[in-house]
Amino acid sequence: MKDLDLFIDGTTVSAEGGRTFTRNNPITGEVATTAAAASSADAIRAVDAAAAAFPAWSATGPGERRKLLMKASEALQAKGDAIVEAMKAEIGATEGWARFNVMLAADMLLEAAALTTQIKGEIVPSNRPGSTAYAVRQPAGVVLSMAPWNAPVILGVRSIATPLACGNTVVMKTSELCPRTHALILEAVAEAGLPKGAVNAISNAPEDAAELVETLIAHPAVRRVNFTGSTRVGRIIAESAGRHLKPALLELGGKAPFLVLEDADIDAAVAAAGFGAYMNQGQICMSTERIIVVDPIADKFVEAFARKVESLKAGSPEEGTAPLGSMVNAGAADRIRELIDDATSKGARLIGGGGNDTLLNAAAVDGVTPQMRLYEEESFGPVTSIIRVADEDEAVCVANESDMGLSAAVFSRDINRAMAVAGRIESGICHVNGPTVHDEAQMPFGGTKDSGYGRFGGTWGIAEFTELRWITVQNGDIHYPI
Ligand code: NAD
Repeated sequence: MKDLDLFIDGTTVSAEGGRTFTRNNPITGEVATTAAAASSADAIRAVDAAAAAFPAWSATGPGERRKLLMKASEALQAKGDAIVEAMKAEIGATEGWARFNVMLAADMLLEAAALTTQIKGEIVPSNRPGSTAYAVRQPAGVVLSMAPWNAPVILGVRSIATPLACGNTVVMKTSELCPRTHALILEAVAEAGLPKGAVNAISNAPEDAAELVETLIAHPAVRRVNFTGSTRVGRIIAESAGRHLKPALLELGGKAPFLVLEDADIDAAVAAAGFGAYMNQGQICMSTERIIVVDPIADKFVEAFARKVESLKAGSPEEGTAPLGSMVNAGAADRIRELIDDATSKGARLIGGGGNDTLLNAAAVDGVTPQMRLYEEESFGPVTSIIRVADEDEAVCVANESDMGLSAAVFSRDINRAMAVAGRIESGICHVNGPTVHDEAQMPFGGTKDSGYGRFGGTWGIAEFTELRWITVQNGDIHYPI
């Protein structure tokens, strides 16, 4: 397979010195992709190209930007088969997950297209006679976008779509774990006809990430940063962005609680928890990590949930017969085994589990307590904790004990009660009688606490990627004190 190049100023180019890195298939260990390993000089060239393209792109009318983003949505869908192959090879994803990625990402591009005419200002009453005061949103400049591998098309597109819709130009730092999948997004956007330099992409060897990211954030032309990834790296990005006074949107880790109250529809709760905990092998920021169930129905719920867990086996996506695919690498799979061993050695009961190498079957651990690592650590894999509590108040208390606050769910047939509980949960997102895993392009998506800050989605994204300015026209008789 041809090596992947960097994409700078509308052209594919090799990295400085022709350096490359490889990404291996997590199941077979074979090389899945060889990609250019950008240097800091390459990163600066990418930002310079984006800065040079900014004046023209930011002045492009909304209708033109809308047309191009709609075309990009079509171009992305046309790459569906190539994306399925890339996601299978690079991250061991199932075809179903890959096709869902393409579908939602295509919708995100359409939503971004629709946003181009929603970037509105206001006239604000001024105390100064004869003065007209405007609050206007303008494109911010070059946006640095960083997205991870786990939902690579959704999160890759999310990182660039609203910034572009708002008239910014973009440099995307692609994930070391899925450079080919991310490159396909950029190809689709380029094919749609965006002007050269409007979108640029650089891939990098993992060992260069820290230096490269610091270089990119420090570049004076970069005016906004968005990062989706772990809380650990998010903190590093936030510190760097803070040092350089660049606003950052951070979409970080999760430890989603799923509350089952005694009046819940158990079948509906089991179906939602099974999907939320194990879709994409639990490698979703919104994955159901903690099922918090009240004692009066705990046994009944766990018995039904165990049947679901035991039905969810992992297999090679190439065979396409198993509901679960591969973990992203051997280290991630080993970590899941360690988390399960830690919990069972301290008295928890394992339901399901097993598998080989990076192919792990669904697992649940019943009776998780604060002494176990699973209680607090994000597993980011196909294991969920079951925590039994006395009542609704304790359920809310346990839900809020986590440092994370991205997604949550509450199951109860009493909607008023469930809404009241939802209001008490510290998370950016909460679904009543629905799974913790749920994303739509037009919704305000983001977390609280260690899950980050800022919101993608719909008109809320506009605030993140525009500069709000106060502009006045004054034609009155102005009195000056000196
Ligand atoms: P990660 O944070 O380990 O890696 C993300 C990127 O950070 C990598 O591409 C790497 O280049 C970069 N990086 C690594 N070290 C760095 C450093 N020292 N300085 C600067 N950059 C550095 O995340 P991951 O493993 O790719 O993704 C999984 C995590 O992402 C999970 O925690 C998950 O919950 C989270 N996530 C969040 C959302 C959301 O929307 N909130 C969505 C998906 C995933």
